[in-house]
Amino acid sequence: MADAIHVPTSSFAREVASVPGGEALNKCIQCGICTASCMVARASEKYRPRQIIQKILIGKRDEVLRSEQPWFCMTCRMCEENCQEGVSPAEIFHAVRIIAAQEGYIPNVFRKTTDTVLEDGWMLKDAYSDFVEDERDDLGLETDLCMNDTFVKLLRDKYFKENKE
Ligand code: SF4
Ligand code: SF4
Repeated sequence: MADAIHVPTSSFAREVASVPGGEALNKCIQCGICTASCMVARASEKYRPRQIIQKILIGKRDEVLRSEQPWFCMTCRMCEENCQEGVSPAEIFHAVRIIAAQEGYIPNVFRKTTDTVLEDGWMLKDAYSDFVEDERDDLGLETDLCMNDTFVKLLRDKYFKENKE
């Protein structure tokens, strides 16, 4: 049946399709144009957007969530520009990363950043220098950007199940 190819075939595919950004997964026809358009795929044989989507469609949940590959996407959207089915692999991988992060699968290179954010709400705390504060003040912007415990708790609750109390 011709339409069957557009129906997510695994529970993992349905799970990804239910996360904002993952909805278009069920339109992928596995043509491979995304991989052919992707500059990251050109730079690394390890990264193949079409193949990651295929693994999602056939339900390789653990393999995909534990893999670093969905985190390689630079969100340049060249694949999206070229996809004839209106699929955005970048959005799909974003949805996958949300699920992966909720389950604690975050590559070490990103782990350091998330740990920093979860510690005090800042990603680049050192970048908020007196100079930036003065500039914000001159522009009439809020200068007290101290992220409080409530903000950090909201982040933890929303994105990191492992950190829920
Ligand atoms: S170009 Fe679009 S339809 Fe083709 S494999 Fe990539 S995401 Fe799927
Ligand atoms: S958005 Fe991601 S998958 Fe698409 S071309 Fe750019 S790096 Fe490759």
